[in-house]
Amino acid sequence: MVIGPEDGTACVRRRFAERWSAAVAGTSYVSLKPDELTDYLAGLTDRLVDALAAPRHDPAPAHRIGVELVAAHFTGPETMRRSLTVLGEELPTLVADPLPPDLARRLGSTLGALAAGYAEALCERTLDEQEAIRRAMLAARRESEAKLATSESRLRAMFTEAAIGIGIADLEGNIQEVNPALVRMFGYPAQEFTQRNVSAMVHPDDAPSVWQLYEELVRGRRDHFRVEKRFFRADGAIIWTNLTVSLVRDADGAPAYQVAMLEDVTERQQLQATLAHLAYHDPLTGLPNRALFSTRLAEVFADPVNPRRVGLCSLDLDGFKRVNDSLGHDVGDQLLVAVAGRLAECCGPDRLLARMGGDEFVVLIDGSSGAAELVELAEEIITAMTAPIRLDGRDLSVTTSIGIVEQAVAETTAAELMSAADITLYRAKHDGKGRYAVFDRGRTDQEIARFTLSATLPAAVERGEFVVHYQPLITLADGALRGVEALVRWQHPTFGLLQPDRFIELAEETGAIVTLGRWVLAHACAQARSWRDEFGAAAPFLSVNLAPRQLEEPDLVADVTAILLDTGLQAAQLQLELTEQAVMRDEPGPLKALRALDDLGVGIAVDDFGTGYSNLSALPRLPVRGLKLDGSFVRTLRGGDATDRTDELIVSTLIDLAHGLDLTVTAEGIETADQLERLRSLGCDVGQGWLFAKAVPAEGITAMLRRHEIREDSG
Ligand code: C2E
Ligand code: MG
Ligand code: MG
Repeated sequence: MVIGPEDGTACVRRRFAERWSAAVAGTSYVSLKPDELTDYLAGLTDRLVDALAAPRHDPAPAHRIGVELVAAHFTGPETMRRSLTVLGEELPTLVADPLPPDLARRLGSTLGALAAGYAEALCERTLDEQEAIRRAMLAARRESEAKLATSESRLRAMFTEAAIGIGIADLEGNIQEVNPALVRMFGYPAQEFTQRNVSAMVHPDDAPSVWQLYEELVRGRRDHFRVEKRFFRADGAIIWTNLTVSLVRDADGAPAYQVAMLEDVTERQQLQATLAHLAYHDPLTGLPNRALFSTRLAEVFADPVNPRRVGLCSLDLDGFKRVNDSLGHDVGDQLLVAVAGRLAECCGPDRLLARMGGDEFVVLIDGSSGAAELVELAEEIITAMTAPIRLDGRDLSVTTSIGIVEQAVAETTAAELMSAADITLYRAKHDGKGRYAVFDRGRTDQEIARFTLSATLPAAVERGEFVVHYQPLITLADGALRGVEALVRWQHPTFGLLQPDRFIELAEETGAIVTLGRWVLAHACAQARSWRDEFGAAAPFLSVNLAPRQLEEPDLVADVTAILLDTGLQAAQLQLELTEQAVMRDEPGPLKALRALDDLGVGIAVDDFGTGYSNLSALPRLPVRGLKLDGSFVRTLRGGDATDRTDELIVSTLIDLAHGLDLTVTAEGIETADQLERLRSLGCDVGQGWLFAKAVPAEGITAMLRRHEIREDSG
């Protein structure tokens, strides 16, 4: 039998249902065989997974399932608790890709709805049960004399056997009789009850309305009331009950005595408290989560004339991803717990410290005294982080970057405060990590632009906002167009055409360069192929920049191979430019990728050569075919009779060295005829620069090639 993806999903869900079924087996009196129980829970699993993965999240189906569980008699106190544990741990793993981005929040709301539906239904059911007993009692009173005896014995049986506690008192509140369930619930003997008065059953935190309702009842102004009320047990513990008190009248309708029925809902109360805690706390660190933080922040801003000040520290661990990637998620988790502990110590109990997700934390100071207070806290945190954290027998050092913003509540909004903290954190990171930065309104415009670009870059690749321009690479000996370098530009909807210096670094920082770089490569290769189709051997080779980060991608070689296959461009027509630092890094992964690319036949050139202080003796061992001399060398080359010849000597030495290693030399940034002359006389092979042409759209190159063709044809 062939197992398709559908079957695979069904199998996984079925196995989960088996684990769920094992967890709740025997916790409720349900007459289902193990297999039937699993079938039943498998059905619920499907519905819960569907609810989690639905395009628009809606907790209602989970609520319904909670209600159904009660209807199906899954009412044992352990059933829901165990179900929540199993579901909380495993339900998210059953959701198929693409995962909804807010999966964690959805899970919280789904389980919350499930438990709420369950609790409500359970409460409903008990109320029904209480109502039935009340009616039976009233009926008993009205029964004719003849039937009195039987009905009383029926009533007595009900009284003794009932699962809920029942107590009967006179109108003065003297307790006359209690049933065994009530005795069990309170933990003291029946005699003790009968020596008590109802009024002694007060809990200090009772709402005053409870006793008002009671007064109305014994005066005959109401027939019954229902409340949730606390009592003290014999051992001093608190029990929560659903309390229904009914007035029983005599044959003439005058109040005669009162009957109280109590259901112990302590477990359910605890469950609800646990759920509320779960909904507002991060399970890993126990810290308040984003939801609680947002609620608190909203409260700060709820009063529009709040005269106080408010401060935020936004924290992000530096290099946490590396810890996770290299040491695994378990160590990453332990590290987060340790960090949370240190942060909590620094913050003390009066400041709200929350984990916003991943390695991001935030401290909220409502009623701050000024930025100095936050700076002090930030310094304390940074110092607290300096001691290494010992995990799994090894010492890990982490630092954190902190963005600080402190303002009068009246002068800002919650959203502005958050975005100011984010931007400032971003600046702290950019300034060098392990440090804090204080929000400075003056600097933000520029930073907001940077921040916006960084945040929108990945989507911009998908939206096709990038274009590639091509700059000619000219053979110096004969002035022929030998190749083109692909240079990317961002056609930004609001900022206009952006040069790479505005975004390449951002793209490297965020990792978006991988997607962007792949797009540039594919796009430029397709273009190069079409030049090849049109101009044959006269078509230029293509040189494409490769960011260091791309060289680390395990898929790089496969990507390049696929792109060459797709576009039909020959490997020999492609050159990749990498900076010295990227090429000379002494690591096996990148070097292996370079070798594989070289084996494919793709050329590798070292870009901006001469700026990287690298060890030149490493060059011969690398699969490199050319050097691109950095523009700064070319700029210092002066005319024939310039006085200082040192620069020229350096360039000349570099060219000789390269030729000695059989490498082609390209000079970047040639702007004047003098520079061209010098480089030509020094034996430089290829030139690039505004003297020949700036980077232009593909059509510009096509036009040049056509002109060239005409010249050749006619010449
Ligand atoms: P690069 O690879 O060294 O590219 C040469 C840069 O020098 C280009 O700037 C080019 O326009 C500029 N240039 C060319 N001739 C002259 C000249 O005569 N005078 C002066 N002053 N400048 C000249 P551009 O296009 O702004 O690109 C800047 C850098 O951005 C590139 O430097 C490259 O490192 C990076 N870059 C551009 N496109 C990509 C890409 O697709 N991927 C990656 N990873 N980096 C790219
Ligand atoms: Mg380049
Ligand atoms: Mg360069």
